[in-house]
Formats: sequence, C-alpha cells, structure tokens
Amino acid sequence: MGFNSLGLSAPILKAIEEQGYETPSPIQAQSIPAVLEGKDVMAAAQTGTGKTAGFTLPILEQLSQRQGVKGNHVRALILTPTRELAAQINDNVVNYSRHLRLRSHVVFGGVKINPQMLTLRKGVDVLVATPGRLLDLHSQNAVKFSQLEVLVLDEADRMLDMGFIRDIKKILALLPAKRQNLLFSATFSDEIRELAKGLVNNPVEISVAPANSTARTVEQSIYPADKKKKAPMLAKLIDEGNWQQVLVFSRTKHGANRLARFLNENKITAAPIHGNKSQGARTKALADFKSGAVRVLVATDIAARGIDIPQLPQVVNFDLPHVSEDYVHRIGRTGRAGETGMAISLVCADELSELKGIERLTKQVLTRKVLAGFEPTNALPETTLDTRPIKPKKPKKAKKPRTEHQDGQRSGENARGHKPQGKNRRHQGKQSQGTEQGNRGRAQTQSAASNGKPRNANSANKPQSENQKPRRRNNDSRNQSDAGNTAPRRPRRPNNQSGNRRPNNKQNPTS
Ligand code: ADP
Ligand code: MG
Repeated sequence: MGFNSLGLSAPILKAIEEQGYETPSPIQAQSIPAVLEGKDVMAAAQTGTGKTAGFTLPILEQLSQRQGVKGNHVRALILTPTRELAAQINDNVVNYSRHLRLRSHVVFGGVKINPQMLTLRKGVDVLVATPGRLLDLHSQNAVKFSQLEVLVLDEADRMLDMGFIRDIKKILALLPAKRQNLLFSATFSDEIRELAKGLVNNPVEISVAPANSTARTVEQSIYPADKKKKAPMLAKLIDEGNWQQVLVFSRTKHGANRLARFLNENKITAAPIHGNKSQGARTKALADFKSGAVRVLVATDIAARGIDIPQLPQVVNFDLPHVSEDYVHRIGRTGRAGETGMAISLVCADELSELKGIERLTKQVLTRKVLAGFEPTNALPETTLDTRPIKPKKPKKAKKPRTEHQDGQRSGENARGHKPQGKNRRHQGKQSQGTEQGNRGRAQTQSAASNGKPRNANSANKPQSENQKPRRRNNDSRNQSDAGNTAPRRPRRPNNQSGNRRPNNKQNPTS
C-alpha cells in the first residue's frame, strides 16, 4: 500500500515522495487515517518506526484545509521532551509542509526567548515545543491557545520519565477543552495509561511492536573487555572495521569527554555530547556527526534520546546502562526504518549484573566476540538466560513532597529550570558513583509546593534523569536536558508561571 491511499492530498504526497518514502510504515498506515478522521489516538511503537510522520502528515493535511492563524496563536501543538527532538520534529514538519502554506516554529529552552517571541507574534500553524519553555512563553503572553485544534504528546513515556508531568498538566489546563489529542510513545506503560485517562477521549489505540523487543534488524554482540582497555579496544574496532559513523554511549559525562579526547588523540575524530555542553556545542556536535565531519559521537543517554540519524550503522555501548530498558533505547538508534545496524557492547567483569538484566529483558543471550590482543584478564563469567518474568513496576504512590532533582534530569527543557520530577526509579537505592549524577546526590526534597497539592503520582519524588527509569543512572541530565536547563528548575512554579526562576544551586551538577 502506498501513501496515496491514506487520504493525504497532493502537496503532502509530493513532499513525501521527495523524502524518498515509498510505503507508509505500519504505525503510519494506522495512525494517519485515524488522525484524519479527527479521532484521538494513542500509539505505541518502538523507536525508528516513523511515528513523527504518523502524526505530522495528517495534522498538516487537516490544517491545510483551512488557513488562518491569528497573531500569537497556535493551531497544532507538539510537545516533546528534549531540545534535539523538538528541532528534529520541526525539521520534519518543515520538510513535509514544503508545498503548503503553513507556518511552523520550534521553541525550547537553553536559547534566547526573544527571537521565539518575535516569531510567535505572527502566529504559527504548528508549534513544536519543550514544556518548560512553552510555559514561559505563555506566561509572557507570547503564545495563546484559544485557536488550538490539535495537541500531540510525542515520546510521552520519556516525558513522564523525565519528570515533565507537572508541566504537562499545567499546559493541559491552558488548552481549550475541545481539541484532538494524540499521544505517541515507545510503550504503553501504566504511567502512560494513567496520563491518557485525563487526556484522550475514546481513543483509537495503535500498538505496533511488542514492548522492549529489540529491533530485529540490529545485529547485537558483546566484547568481554578489561575496563582499562576499553578505550584502545574501541579505537581498534573502529579502525579495523573502518567504521565511519559510530554513536558511542558513555554512562558519564566525564567518561564521554575522556573517551572523545582519547579517540581524537588516536586520529579518530570524535565529539562528546551531554548535558554539560552548551546548546551551541551540542548542536554543532550533532551536525558534525551527521555530516561526517566527526566519525564518533560519544553521548550520554539523555543527550542521545530520540535523536534520529537516518541509517546510523554502528552503536557502541562503551559502558552498559544500569537500567536495562536503556539498552533497548540505545540500540534503537541503529537499524532504523528497515536499515540493518550493528550494536556492540564492551563489557567488563563489573558489568555482569547489567548484562544479565539486559539479556533477561531482551530474552536472548548476547553473542560474544573476542578482539585479538584484547582478551580480558578479568574474565566475564558466562551467562544463561533468565526466563523468569520481569515484575511490572509497582504503581507509585503519590504524596510525597516533591523532590527536586538535582540532577537535572530534565532534560528537557527547561530553560527555565524547572525540574522535572522524577518518577519512578527503580533502583533508587543505589547510588552510582561516578556516574554523572554521581554525586549530585539524590535529590533533595524541596517541597514543593506552591500549591500545596501532592504531586502527582508520577512525579513522586524521585528525581530522575533522563530516562528515567530507575535511575541511578547517570543522569546527565541536568543539563542535558534538553532543556536547556541551564537554569535550575524552580521548585514549583508560581501560578503565573513567570516568575520562577529561582536558582537552586543544588542542582548543579557536580560532575
Ligand atoms: P520514531 O519517532 O518512531 O522513533 P522517526 O519518526 O524519527 O521514528 O523516523 C525514523 C526514521 O525513519 C526517520 O529517519 C524518518 O525519516 C524515516 N521514515 C519515516 N517514515 C518513513 C517511511 N514511510 N519510509 C522510509 N523512511 C521513513
Ligand atoms: Mg519519535
């Protein structure tokens, strides 16, 4: 089936063809008609399955049927957790609407607000935003929602993980009650369903891939390694394999810097990307990586979240993530949209429990490979598949006063420094040392309240970082976030959202 049987008109079909898309992905085939009918939609599909076009194309179609947006108004609002994702989605919107007369714009924290306010003056048909900056703009009357027709929460699971629930609820309260709601996520977790209850009406539910299954087009293997030898080992793998574009995950910001430096010294061009880097440096690192000017991008989880680099051939886990689900997200960066990718992990004996967790989650024992000259002296014990079912997360209780994250997890957004509240972290008990978050400590509670209400369950107190899952992870978050978070998030935003920027020093990352 082609795109032309889905109800999209000629200017959009032409743009799709120019993108080189031949057939709609399964999620697109299901979501496009549903969105065009005006239904609320909840869609879950793994990373790289084309969700962006799944909501963008039908929204553009609908918006193009009637023109006209008033100054400072917005007709379609797309909320997303990180700056990079926001920029990427807007690029897609621009591409897909090139033959239409619609205006789009993207706003996120970490950069000046004034130019954003100026652009919004004319009104925009599609606004892509991270939650914190959007609230700031609203508090300054730069954006108005009475003309809003459609709301999209993209990467909704990540937004919850990153602690954006409170901001999302604030935004929902500002929107007209009559509107179309689209919720896109990698999974339908309990938290997502909880969020959906207050959001979508009688939704069409679309679910394409089983949760947590790794993409079949990704060839995965591990190289047992001694911890100290990982960097030279990676350099050798890159050289020998002649890998030209490699995304490497590091658990910590420091580790990312160190590894990028080592590779550069060994004549392999590399750039780190994480939350302690300025927005400019992050944008440049990503652009250089996409253009091929640097071969290796060394990223922390947060920084990498959701970044779409078409046909990324190689992903390397320089460290295994503490949270098994992050492994799935990481390797989802390769093998996208039908391309084949390769994901390798350098695993030292200390990481045995992470390895077991990943194998249990992905239901496979990962193939082991050996690199000549790098056989580990500290052997990595053999693993067998643990087939016990994984317990679902416990439902969270609300009620504790919120904590702020110090780690900033948030990536997202906020320039305003808001902190997200974290949600459930599973491993809360462990503190990771050395991780990026490391010593920032676990959050402290500030409680919150400006309004004294308990925060919502999801937000309960844990700080979280980017992906929140359990995180003891490192978050690089804080700044990383995309959000530009340069600013610390304020403990709670006063009602008029504007005022809040109070610095909270605790948030500063230590690392
Ligand atoms: P997701 O949001 O599900 O992770 P994206 O929307 O970022 O996925 O899309 C992943 C990649 O697939 C992008 O590079 C996008 O351009 C490409 N893509 C999307 N739809 C199609 C299609 N129908 N045919 C080919 N490539 C596509
Ligand atoms: Mg996406």
